[in-house]
Amino acid sequence: MPLIALCAGDGIGPEVTAEAVKVLKVVDAKYKIGFEFVEAPAGGGAYDKFGTPLPPESLEKAKKADAVFLGAVGGPKWEGLDYSVRPERGLLGLRSGLDLFANIRPAKMFAPLVGASTLKREYVEGIDIIVIRELTGDIYFGKPRGVEKYEGGKRGVNTMVYTTPEIERIARVAFEIARKRSKKVCSVDKANVLECTELWREVVTQTHEDYQDVQLSHMYVDNAAMQLVRNPKQFDVMLTPNLFGDILSDEASMLTGSIGMLPSASLNGKKGMYEPIHGSAPDIAGKGIANPIASILSMGMMLELTFGNSKAAREIENAVGRVLEKGFRTADIYSEGTAKVTTTQMGELIIKELA
Ligand code: NAD
Repeated sequence: MPLIALCAGDGIGPEVTAEAVKVLKVVDAKYKIGFEFVEAPAGGGAYDKFGTPLPPESLEKAKKADAVFLGAVGGPKWEGLDYSVRPERGLLGLRSGLDLFANIRPAKMFAPLVGASTLKREYVEGIDIIVIRELTGDIYFGKPRGVEKYEGGKRGVNTMVYTTPEIERIARVAFEIARKRSKKVCSVDKANVLECTELWREVVTQTHEDYQDVQLSHMYVDNAAMQLVRNPKQFDVMLTPNLFGDILSDEASMLTGSIGMLPSASLNGKKGMYEPIHGSAPDIAGKGIANPIASILSMGMMLELTFGNSKAAREIENAVGRVLEKGFRTADIYSEGTAKVTTTQMGELIIKELA
């Protein structure tokens, strides 16, 4: 039986995960798959209970499972803790512990939401971008790191590190995905000032020799940030190091209306962790107003990428599209003339469409 490790996490994590699990159970019954679930606590709640944001048992469960499904971690309650035990370390520990080096973040516009973007209709209509973000290297993991005493004050250090194999394997993922789309990859770096990303550009260019049917361009990250709002439709697949991809994919999410709409997959082959790209949203946690669509679409990505069921993934996407067409909106994507619904109501509407 396919096994899913569930880590609902903190803040709105449990609220949106509950809706996504309900959707998955409907798909499960329809396709008679027989999914089994195991709880794998991580994040702030896990720290409170076990004294660590990633108990070793949770990592073991995640390793044994076919896929991991995560809500979100973190919140103000844990902000004063040492970095080594902050909730976000739990998430990073899962990513590195499972060697999930390839983060796939699609930013696709659902037609009824074209008015929800802060950008003009003609710039965002039909947007369909995939950010392929390297996930287990870069400044998040590089050493030395930390804050130390320095000349009567303090000095903070983080280190950007990439090796040739790390760059090559993520470049291959981007080129393979581009082959199935419009055969265009834009690789993002800061090769004009950061040696580490000069290496990035060199290795991406070398790897491209095996993918001559795909068009490769390079762009500095500051220009990419500007181009994403100036003319987002020029992009199809964006290949990025960890830090730049973190920032650019949040920016891309706003093109589509709300950060509450974007799913993600973090992969190493078929093994994957699936999660909405948003955080634990402490400002709206417990109010029942979070948008569960990013989480529900993440279940769709899981069905497709780990379990090979593209049909079910499209059914979920289509159900979301129909609910939006009918004018139902959570608060983050609400506009005048549409019907505002809660987190659970949105989940129920999507399930009704699926059925
Ligand atoms: P956030 O994504 O949690 O929230 C940013 C803004 O978007 C907030 O105004 C929030 O209300 C809104 N928002 C986010 N998701 C939404 C949804 N589904 N529906 C409606 N509105 C939504 O980012 P933040 O405020 O920078 O971070 C809050 C906490 O989450 C921090 O502790 C941070 O470290 C953590 N975080 C966790 C993850 C993760 O678990 N993958 C990712 C990012 C941030």
